Amino acid sequence: MIGSLLVDHIGELVTNDGRGGDPLGVRRDAALLIEDGKVAWVGPARYAPAADRRIDADGAAVLPGFVDSHAHLVFAGDRAAEFAARMAGEPYTGGGIRTTVGATRAASDDDLRATVRRLRAEMLRQGTTTVEIKSGYGLSVAEEARSLRIAAEFTEDTTFLGAHVVPAEYADRPDDYVGLVCGPMLAAAAPYARWIDVFCERGAFDADHARAILACGQAAGLGVRLHANQLGPGPGVQLGVELGAASVDHCTHLTDADIDALAGSTTVEWLSGPPTNTVATLLPGAEFSTRSPYPDARRLLDAGVTVALATDCNPGSSYTSSMPFCVALAVREMRMTPAEAVWAATAGGAAALRRTDVGRLTPGARADLMILDAPTHLHLAYRPGVPLIRQVLHNGVPR
Ligand SMILES: [Zn+2]
Repeated sequence: MIGSLLVDHIGELVTNDGRGGDPLGVRRDAALLIEDGKVAWVGPARYAPAADRRIDADGAAVLPGFVDSHAHLVFAGDRAAEFAARMAGEPYTGGGIRTTVGATRAASDDDLRATVRRLRAEMLRQGTTTVEIKSGYGLSVAEEARSLRIAAEFTEDTTFLGAHVVPAEYADRPDDYVGLVCGPMLAAAAPYARWIDVFCERGAFDADHARAILACGQAAGLGVRLHANQLGPGPGVQLGVELGAASVDHCTHLTDADIDALAGSTTVEWLSGPPTNTVATLLPGAEFSTRSPYPDARRLLDAGVTVALATDCNPGSSYTSSMPFCVALAVREMRMTPAEAVWAATAGGAAALRRTDVGRLTPGARADLMILDAPTHLHLAYRPGVPLIRQVLHNGVPR
């Protein structure tokens, strides 16, 4: 029996409860009671119930743990030299993925596991309590299954990304590779995966290939998400909406029709069941690390699209595990308000994973939260690069 735990003297509590006009559902001078790893009660500090143990937040801000809904953590090696070359003027093409595929195939299970463990710990220290982890650096039947088996040791939200790029050995017969992904690779991957994803982009997979792969994944019981419209305009966003994808990710190059399609997907209904719309997940770490133009978040938000923020943590185009960094970029570079960015990094990520148990601090939710070394969520963008996460609780347990 763990007993109850009261977090008391919270100066600003972000609940994301979806009530009233404030999307963050901020409560001041609040307290929060945790029982059995879940939020049991939220209310004014002066009415706080008794508890077995107590954490004094001392007037600080308390937020739901970040939900990082897009990360590629199962890999070996790094691409620091590629990054340096890019900063010296080389363009980003996505071709470096094959470099990581070679290193990943050569690595032992324990090496891959150690990398995921290190990055997962890095994330937790920075407030991330839920993370999605993709495969996509194995690109063979055995290697994709291995990546997902390892990913599943760390998260429930595992994503089969066998269609990341066409591996070198299939370079001149992409149709055969799509057949492999839909057939034996999917069969080997599905037991360890909740989601299926495709890199739908020029140089990776076109709309016909992406549709075929995602349809096979859906038939195998996997939910759909996709990498879309990152490097240029393309069919990915509208394909995602057509297939009922939980999320289309990157969304850097969008037409009006793409925005309309996203805005027309069913709206999130927070208080009565899981969300069913297609979320636009923005990954500003990728634009930062490839020195590319940022997505137009304002245009999406003003059209009523649900927006999430995630790290895209991967060794090539965005080697950051920091959601606070992404929040700061979203505010400074994409003109999101601090409140919009914090919502997108918590409740938005949960919507992108179609989860209602995380990304909010309301009774019944998982007690995943962070106590900041700051009086308000504004400081996450106002003080970029500063380690502001004083303490993280995951499933109600201080970490
Ligand atoms: Zn990605």
